[in-house]
Amino acid sequence: MIWRELPENLHPATLAVRTALEKSQYGENSEALYLTSSFVQPTAETAARRFAQEEDGYTYTRVGNPTVNSMERRLAALEGTQAAVATSSGMAAILLLGMGLLRNGDHVVCSQSVFGSTMRLFSTEFGKFGVETSFVSQTDVAAWRSAIRPNTRLLFAETPTNPLTDVCDIQALSDVAHNADASLAVDNCFCSPALQQPARFGADFVVHSGTKYLDGQGRVMAGAICCDERYVEEVFLPITRTAGMVLSPFNAWVVLKGMETLAIRMAAQSDCALALSQWLQAHPNVTRVYYPGLASHPQHDLAMRQQAASGPGRGGAVVSFDVKGDSPATLRRNAFAVIDAALVSSITTNLGDTKTTISHPASTSHGRLTDAQREAAGIGQGLVRVAAGLEHLDDLKADLARGLDLLK
Ligand SMILES: *Cc1c(COP(=O)(O)O)cnc(C)c1O
Repeated sequence: MIWRELPENLHPATLAVRTALEKSQYGENSEALYLTSSFVQPTAETAARRFAQEEDGYTYTRVGNPTVNSMERRLAALEGTQAAVATSSGMAAILLLGMGLLRNGDHVVCSQSVFGSTMRLFSTEFGKFGVETSFVSQTDVAAWRSAIRPNTRLLFAETPTNPLTDVCDIQALSDVAHNADASLAVDNCFCSPALQQPARFGADFVVHSGTKYLDGQGRVMAGAICCDERYVEEVFLPITRTAGMVLSPFNAWVVLKGMETLAIRMAAQSDCALALSQWLQAHPNVTRVYYPGLASHPQHDLAMRQQAASGPGRGGAVVSFDVKGDSPATLRRNAFAVIDAALVSSITTNLGDTKTTISHPASTSHGRLTDAQREAAGIGQGLVRVAAGLEHLDDLKADLARGLDLLK
């Protein structure tokens, strides 16, 4: 069956719904889920040619799967990159990036505010294989530049950061990387391509945790690297096929369908986060609000330029705030009181869900840091993080007010 092909130059909203492999002979309108570990070969001769890579065709899901390929194509279309390679989780994507690009003796420059597991992966795990990583300030471009060494191969950033929403200048970091013959990788988990396309600002590799906004409903783990096709074919696929950190077809299908509603979810959840942040800023028991959509945010202008992939600049769906308190113990008690008074928001550190989540970074996601490290990172005992979902704004305000109004 030859199905009609999509025209060229479609808008991202259309690509998010339509990009996939061709339909099967049955003409399903919702993309098929090929939940199979292997593929039957028509003849022994065909099998031989496919295994010798002389002929295209699926053989075994670790090597390739149509549902996974549909998800990869759709994500690449949204990021504006030539190709993408899917992985079993966001961390597996960063592992794959390192395995593909780094060798014993190489050096990495990484933001000191990246996801905690990312930091451990670079420092502890890659460290075992002779890769050294320098951690620098998220927003100080000069610090990135002066950390460069002759053997620097990769710069790695994440923007905005979790939980303080610091925004780095992707274009400036890509210039630093390229002047040093190194590559820039950006973890685009927080904004997703609906708000921010790092490749447009010169990033060579865009890393994803599909577990967050791409799935969007907190169901599955997934990850991906988006980049030039040459890297996918020659560097990353040979590793995933051998090392096996591939995405399961079921999870790929969930993320594929999640991407259809990504842009409207990101817009709605960002708008909710903006309204919440404005309301929090006016609350007498809140001493500081961290949200790139607020004019008071130190990188507000940059964020509004950089996070405008589908319309006006938006701040993303994550808001953090400090509650009042005059000692670490009071701050912690007050933050816990706000979290425990929430009846709608889920107490969990995940984000990117349609269900609003609320957490205390200092004792959970950043609990393994020492007091000094936490202080340097600006993550105090009074800090509360909210990742806005799709509930009604008034119910979320009431949820936070329940605890905030009673603080002493
Ligand atoms: C969650 C997360 C990851 C890791 O993704 P997993 O899918 O949990 O492995 C990486 N980076 C950021 C910014 C994240 O929030």
